[in-house]
Amino acid sequence: MTIQIDGSQGEGGGQILRTALSLAIITGQAIQIKNIRAKRKTPGLMRQHLTAVNAAAAISGAEVKGAQVGSTELSFNPDKVQGGDYNFNIGTAGSCTLVLQTVLPALLMADQESRLVITGGTHNTMCPPFHFLQRAFIPLLKRMGVQVDLQLNRFGFYPAGGGEITATIKPSTRLMPLHLEGRGERVNAYAESYFAALPAHIAERELAVVKQKLSWSDEQLLLREINRNQGPGNVLLITLEHKQVTEVFTGFAERGVAVEVVAKGAVAKVQKYLTSNAAVDTYLADQLLLPMALAGGGSFTTTEWSLHADTNAEVIKQFLPIKIHHDIEENGTIRVRIV
Ligand code: ATP
Repeated sequence: MTIQIDGSQGEGGGQILRTALSLAIITGQAIQIKNIRAKRKTPGLMRQHLTAVNAAAAISGAEVKGAQVGSTELSFNPDKVQGGDYNFNIGTAGSCTLVLQTVLPALLMADQESRLVITGGTHNTMCPPFHFLQRAFIPLLKRMGVQVDLQLNRFGFYPAGGGEITATIKPSTRLMPLHLEGRGERVNAYAESYFAALPAHIAERELAVVKQKLSWSDEQLLLREINRNQGPGNVLLITLEHKQVTEVFTGFAERGVAVEVVAKGAVAKVQKYLTSNAAVDTYLADQLLLPMALAGGGSFTTTEWSLHADTNAEVIKQFLPIKIHHDIEENGTIRVRIV
């Protein structure tokens, strides 16, 4: 029976499509998706989403209808997942990490090792930056028994793109449940401002805001110039390593927005996380649901139950016989349980 997915539900964005594709190829279920990205300014498949569809089709030998830019309907009928070497080129600055997240869960369950090279954007607004995947998301998956190695070959920023990542994925027989009660003691904290083909004062001013607002020492502030042929672009990454969880908070320089405002926005996210005692922040919360559901269980505390998380939970429940509960604790943190 084909599973019908409504792309306009909840958040109405690209994550509905990606989660549905991930689960279609894992479960071998045919899906039909309507109203793709109905709540976005330019609905339908953009290059990043189309590449995710093509990548999912390539690894699963799927029969696909509706895989064109702008398409708001897709039917996708997968065959068996096949590990191996794959190259996926987004062709724009669309996010490499989101394409990787679409096929990663299925390749973990393939019968041979995979090596993926994905070209496009590596540090995009509204998407997990490469370093978030490498430092925050993948280490938690590793605790679930997963063996994945990520490499950043070139940065890719909007609008030029041209970044490249490599992922080596070893098959795991089974994902193990993970329970994250808290984040644990602080181990390390640092801010990096990466910049390419832009004046150094942009990065210096971002780090000055971090220093002042978080009272950090100079050793915690890292100016990272990238070869100018990977730009123009800038990203501020603030990394908090705790014993149980590493979180990465991001700010992107934007035309017409003072870099101080960008940096203050990233610092505000750090402060919000630090004032709560939740294990993970909002982005990890929506991204952990799928691996934990595949493991058949898991739990964590988080700062926020976002519409993204809620929508993702609804899509996952269409495929897997699990329950996803979220309860507000007395101190305001949210406890999420996947059972
Ligand atoms: P659209 O919304 O245009 O369809 P999209 O395909 O990028 O775009 P969304 O549905 O918005 O999809 O999903 C974005 C994903 O990126 C979510 O899983 C969210 O957790 C993640 N994300 C967004 N910003 C960050 C960030 N700064 N750090 C880590 N993850 C992020």
